[in-house]
Amino acid sequence: MTTDQLLRKIKLFNPEYPNKTTGIINGETSGLLNWNDIAYPQMYTLYQTLLANFWKAQEINMQDDIKQWDQLTPTEKDVFLRINTQLASLDSLQTPTMNQVMDYVTDSSFKAIFAVISQQEAVHNESYSYILSSLVPLNEQKERFDQAKDDPIVRKRNQLILEAYEGFREKPNSENLFKLAINSINLEGIYFYAGFAFFYHLARQQKMLKTSTMISYIQRDEMQHAYFIAQFVRILLSENPELNTEENKEYVYQAIGQAVELEKEWAHYILQDIEGIDLLEFEEYVEYLANKRLRQLGFQNLYQEKDNPMPWIQVFSDEMMNETKSDFFEQKSRTYTKVSQSNGFDEL
Ligand code: ZN
Ligand code: ZN
Repeated sequence: MTTDQLLRKIKLFNPEYPNKTTGIINGETSGLLNWNDIAYPQMYTLYQTLLANFWKAQEINMQDDIKQWDQLTPTEKDVFLRINTQLASLDSLQTPTMNQVMDYVTDSSFKAIFAVISQQEAVHNESYSYILSSLVPLNEQKERFDQAKDDPIVRKRNQLILEAYEGFREKPNSENLFKLAINSINLEGIYFYAGFAFFYHLARQQKMLKTSTMISYIQRDEMQHAYFIAQFVRILLSENPELNTEENKEYVYQAIGQAVELEKEWAHYILQDIEGIDLLEFEEYVEYLANKRLRQLGFQNLYQEKDNPMPWIQVFSDEMMNETKSDFFEQKSRTYTKVSQSNGFDEL
């Protein structure tokens, strides 16, 4: 199978094939999912972690933020709204893209995880609308969404992601799936962070804490998604050695490097009038993130190794992200018990 050949969209049900797939793409699989009989058992843990993160916007009461909104400066309000709609536009791309990938992945456990990710993206998208509807009237929301569509820096920044996503829609082959996955890591693992930094910066000043709580949930989901996609890429490369070329390795460094530059440019543009965020420090933070994404992919650091220069952005560190669901800003622990480890699947 060459990397240029279109991926096979297999039938929903293929009784002649095993339930455990023979390949993540172009594999033979019955289409039935038994989580106890899957090719990569660690995916069950990942699936459970994603479900344990379950949250929805309406759980968060916006009253405190509504009261504080008018105490923000006009610049803070403007940046707040611009970032909100810009993040919403990224999540809007992600929901259908994760769904589309499901059609071509021939491992039912991966399909299920992509379905959960897609659902979470829909929740993220909704949460931005929920925040907006609490703070500004509909006509202003509409203007802000139009602003996100027209802003040249936003467009430039999203262009690479869009090209990769559209490329796969037009020509769903393994090469384009690989590129889509790398760009998805950029979107979820790098592009959100100038926006996150702004909301956490407000939170450090005890402003708009409900919004930041929501943002921290989104951040935790995104970190899990970027981690999952990195695992997906590693499996894709190991099962399909024809993808494991010098050219594709170069593509990873180049695409992540470009995302880093675009995120720095965006941060300078959007955060220039916000006092208290050191933009040079933020640049280092983006490089730190890029190194982390590369290492998750099994690649080398692209930038000098450094400790997290802005630990206050990393509300959920990679170390603690799988542990408890804690309401960081309100210091209230909310532990979900919907998913337990001892539910009869111990052998996993
Ligand atoms: Zn999202
Ligand atoms: Zn995501």
